[in-house]
Amino acid sequence: MNDPRAIVEADRAHVWHHLIQNKVFETVDPRIIVEGKGLRVWDIKGKEHVDAVSGGVWTVNIGYGRERVADAVRDQLVKMCYFAGSAGSIPGARYAEALTARMPGLSRVYFANSGSEANEKAFKMVRQIAHKHHGGRKHKILYRDRDYHGTTIACLSAGGQQERNAMYGPFAPGFVQVPHCLEYRAGDLAGEGYGERAANAIEEVILREGPDTIGALCLEPITAGGGIIVPPKGYWERVQEICRKYDILLHIDEVVCGFGRTGTWFGYQQYGIQPDIVTMAKGVASGYAAISCCVTTEAVFDMFKDDTDRLGYFRDISTFGGCTSGPAAALEVMAITEEEDLLGNSTRMGAYLNGKLHELMDKHACIGEVRGLGLFQGAELVADRSTREPLEEKKVQAIVADCMAQGVIIGASNRSMPGFNNTLLFAPALIATKGDLDEVVAGVDAAIQRIVG
Ligand code: PMP
Repeated sequence: MNDPRAIVEADRAHVWHHLIQNKVFETVDPRIIVEGKGLRVWDIKGKEHVDAVSGGVWTVNIGYGRERVADAVRDQLVKMCYFAGSAGSIPGARYAEALTARMPGLSRVYFANSGSEANEKAFKMVRQIAHKHHGGRKHKILYRDRDYHGTTIACLSAGGQQERNAMYGPFAPGFVQVPHCLEYRAGDLAGEGYGERAANAIEEVILREGPDTIGALCLEPITAGGGIIVPPKGYWERVQEICRKYDILLHIDEVVCGFGRTGTWFGYQQYGIQPDIVTMAKGVASGYAAISCCVTTEAVFDMFKDDTDRLGYFRDISTFGGCTSGPAAALEVMAITEEEDLLGNSTRMGAYLNGKLHELMDKHACIGEVRGLGLFQGAELVADRSTREPLEEKKVQAIVADCMAQGVIIGASNRSMPGFNNTLLFAPALIATKGDLDEVVAGVDAAIQRIVG
């Protein structure tokens, strides 16, 4: 029944793959991954790979083959698989309590299924607050150039990678772009004090649009697919100040950075800031179930109450937000993360990987910059270090493909930004060891040698 050739044929004939599978996997083979253990995966031909991107899109933070997560999901499904309506669930209540205990200042969890959906919830909350408390005026949502928040029309409207997504327009009104904060590509703005200047550029947009029209600022803590952009010193403090000054809600999209990717539970916790809304998805259940969350402060929740709507009336429903498998898996993922000190390992191994990539930079002139936090690292490739001209996309893809042929799976920055798909991305499971990382870096070394010389 599972004859490899028949499966590959069925896949070729009937599966409509998404963007990343189309672009990367197709250059090598219709690579169907059939098994995983720890950081290793095996494809349908039996070939072993070391996975440095946690399931392709940095999701499987705890690694593959965790039986206790599967057991918890199975037990829960047999007992009570699903009841949405207005009912809650035991794992839902327990998880919301456990999650918010790790997010001081936040206290309410709205369950959904994907990163895009969690962000849609946040956008709807902002709009409802605008209508209920600001006469509809504070309805605009600011997003940042190069950030990504999902694939729906509203999320694409809030997406800072719109060039190649133009075919999905017209986009939704009320979303306004602010500049990115990548110092390496900031031109004359770079240098001492750049963090503050980059944040001030957001204030300029706010003043141009009118502060009383803006409800929220939505940012990734570290821009992920847009090129691993770690905001410069002083940036976040100033961003928080600006939001407070103009009564703008700070919405942090932790879909990628959450759950230890950067070395703390959430990326924003690296900076001591206090967001009003936090969205998360991939790492919540680490790929063992489909679940996402939109978490808010009590103050945000309270804005949905009035004399008649005591329970926080948000006119929204998510059918599968009522699935119990998600929070059941998420509770186990959280326990594993703590028992195995995966946050600490992410910090330690992240520093190790960063050092190894810097060594590669000494060897290969095509690496223009190495940047990252925890087990979330990037190496920006250039054709010329002095002009910083990006390395051709074709060559970047060839490096990724060469690694894959060697059995090393890495990523590259998002393919919707022409000219800037030149950052190699590394986000292995948080259980990675030095040996795993050495293997990944050796693969990249050999690939660059072959492709760039
Ligand atoms: N936000 C960020 C930062 C993401 O990287 C992604 C997905 N790559 C999303 C949101 C959307 O998540 P999903 O694909 O689950 O809808």
